[in-house]
Amino acid sequence: MATKKTKSKAKSAAKKAVKQSVRNAKKGKYGGIVAIVLVLILGIALFGGYQFGLFDGLFHREDEKTTSPVVVDTDELSVHFLELGNWYTGDCTYIKIGTVDILIDAGSRASSAQAITEYVNQYCTDGVLEYVIATHAHQDHIAGFVGTKEFPGIFEQFECETIIDFPRTDATSQVYRNYCEKRDAEVAKGAKHYTALECYENKNGAQRKYTLAEGVELEILYQKFYEEKTSDENNYSVCCMINQGNQHYLFTGDLEGDGEESLVQMNNLPHCTLFKAGHHGSRTSTTYALLDEITPEVVCVCCCAGSDEYTATNKNQFPTQEFCTRVSDYTDKVYVTSLSLDNEKKEFTSMNGNIVFSSKGDGYTVRCSANDTLLKDTEWFKENRVWGEPE
Ligand SMILES: [Zn+2]
Repeated sequence: MATKKTKSKAKSAAKKAVKQSVRNAKKGKYGGIVAIVLVLILGIALFGGYQFGLFDGLFHREDEKTTSPVVVDTDELSVHFLELGNWYTGDCTYIKIGTVDILIDAGSRASSAQAITEYVNQYCTDGVLEYVIATHAHQDHIAGFVGTKEFPGIFEQFECETIIDFPRTDATSQVYRNYCEKRDAEVAKGAKHYTALECYENKNGAQRKYTLAEGVELEILYQKFYEEKTSDENNYSVCCMINQGNQHYLFTGDLEGDGEESLVQMNNLPHCTLFKAGHHGSRTSTTYALLDEITPEVVCVCCCAGSDEYTATNKNQFPTQEFCTRVSDYTDKVYVTSLSLDNEKKEFTSMNGNIVFSSKGDGYTVRCSANDTLLKDTEWFKENRVWGEPE
């Protein structure tokens, strides 16, 4: 065991050695050795800093998959298409401009409430969602509003100020009844609740257009199934547009072809910089009738690519071949949230991950949490789809 004495002896010896080496260095003796030691120390410090990510802003780390959130400027509008924490296809779009936060849908399952809440909390710092839109009564769009016992849904995680949902539904499911119960509880706490039809008609305090920031508005569009009965619940979908100066971003939920036809007839649709692919890239949505009007530049598909959740027929699995063929006439900037790894085990991974479109009103950027690879360039696409018309 080292005594106090021997310790201090050692200390003073070390001091002496340092003094001696400094003296020697000053004299030019051992100068080479000192330089080598300094270079070694500097090298170790740089390597350590690199390993701990201290220089991430300077170097691109090839080995690291980006898991940190995409950073958006405070004066940017950002539209986020979320991964939902499971293998099931569903929709959740989060939109932020300044301190205004909007959520369109909260799929795909009740357990998605956690993934959505954790994601949104990275950007929404006051716990308030100014606008919440539920497009239609299917679980892959509303289950996350309800959540689970362990992790309550969006209506409980956030203060929701204005809730806009579908004027019509034929739903009788448990998840729909739970949705109504949770929504009404939020209304009892002070939230305003309107249907898309009330908004469109500027009735009962609802507005067709809500100003989100200077030159930025949320506009509720009209389509005939707000009032007419249909056999397809998807056609009851609430449709809305974000207008940011001369740029327009369109969200149609799971609206089907005949709904899209009505949307085109009833609105003077502009060219859209951004379009959330209709019905997860189904073959029955994103029809030419709509595409010809909006000529989209960026198309984001919320789905688990190649999952057999709805069909075993490969070409009809989201995003379907027919969807890819039609959209390829307009743009190749197509992004997809998730990818099925194993349909048996229901395992998934990121395709692009969380897709973040952002703009200050003039131009845009698309950044994704996993990678920015276009759909047509992905391995999955090359193995399962054809860009353009199949032979
Ligand atoms: Zn859906």
